[in-house]
Amino acid sequence: MRRISAHYILPVSSPPIRNGIITLDDSGEVLDVSAPSGSEPEESEGVEFYSGALTPGFVNAHCHLELSHLKGAAPQGAGLAGFIAGLAAHRAKFTDEQAHRAASLADAQLYAAGTVAVGDVSNHRLTFEVKAGSPVFYHTFVERYGLRREDVASGVRSARMLAAEAERLGLSASLTPHAPYSTLPEMYDALAQGSAFWSVHNQECADENLMFEKGGGSLHELFLSMGLTPMPPVGKSSIHCTLRHVAEGQRLLLVHNTCTTAADYDAAAAVRCKGISWVLCPTSNLYIERRLPPLRMLRAKGANIALGTDSLASGASPNLLEELKLLAERFPDVPLSETLRWATLGGATALGMEHSLGSLERGKRPGVTLLTNLDLDKLKLTPDTKSYLLTKKIPTFADK
Ligand SMILES: [Zn+2]
Repeated sequence: MRRISAHYILPVSSPPIRNGIITLDDSGEVLDVSAPSGSEPEESEGVEFYSGALTPGFVNAHCHLELSHLKGAAPQGAGLAGFIAGLAAHRAKFTDEQAHRAASLADAQLYAAGTVAVGDVSNHRLTFEVKAGSPVFYHTFVERYGLRREDVASGVRSARMLAAEAERLGLSASLTPHAPYSTLPEMYDALAQGSAFWSVHNQECADENLMFEKGGGSLHELFLSMGLTPMPPVGKSSIHCTLRHVAEGQRLLLVHNTCTTAADYDAAAAVRCKGISWVLCPTSNLYIERRLPPLRMLRAKGANIALGTDSLASGASPNLLEELKLLAERFPDVPLSETLRWATLGGATALGMEHSLGSLERGKRPGVTLLTNLDLDKLKLTPDTKSYLLTKKIPTFADK
């Protein structure tokens, strides 16, 4: 049993508690979250007291561990087409050993900084050992794209083999299409079979929508230059391509949504499926496109918002705290209690783990993360805020 306290507890599922105490059993299960009774908790016997605030462990809903070694490989502000071309040009310069080491370091960093679960994209098996050996829970999205009809069957077959290998190593895995602009409709259909979760890059730039609405634009030009046939225009924004293929039993994570409109949101909300989460990666969006996602629209719509760090290639830290700091700087009117919800319960819901992770509630095993160097009067992050995981008992998928 462990009793932990700090200046504030931010349970996410209930209001902040000043000087509250969290009681955990030896497995990390929350037995109680309570206000102090009588004496100050820092003076109570058997209570660990920390300066700062205690939160549930972070859930990073979108990450590409396998791109960790490509930090700085693509130029900043080059747009999505420039970013894709930049990564393609640099990939071959690194060995698997270098990629493995960078992924391993990112995993250790995000764990130490308070992350307990990650939705991670894999195109290869390169990071499987890192993920299988990590105390962090990983759901692996085995990703495929393809614009050549002749490549669809082999692409899906290799994805199924990769997912089976991930599961053999004890990893949770599902197949997913990469994005509407890179994935033929028949590949979408094949990847839907038996896949409970999709994590699809969505409306990451204006030219993605342009390709589907009218044709042309930078992505269209990029694919032509690569000898590929771009997707033909259909008079609708790109999100409709994904929505057409979602099955009733699936959970859908839509990632980025930088150019998503209220009408696009409404179209998604009308789709019958197990739930849609809107995953935002603001640092990555600023790095690649120099723009931010439509936060006010998504908040007004009541969307389940989750946060992701995307890859280190797009300038992010593997620690979600840096996304929270950016949001605090760019959207100062949005309270920490709300952005913190996106970094915890929002991500847990996206990954189907809201019953065990994401909030400090009795019966859950969410992990406890300490935030230090906060502005405790205003309950706001500062540029100097740091985060640390205080608990080492990590729930697994089987614990749901
Ligand atoms: Zn991504």
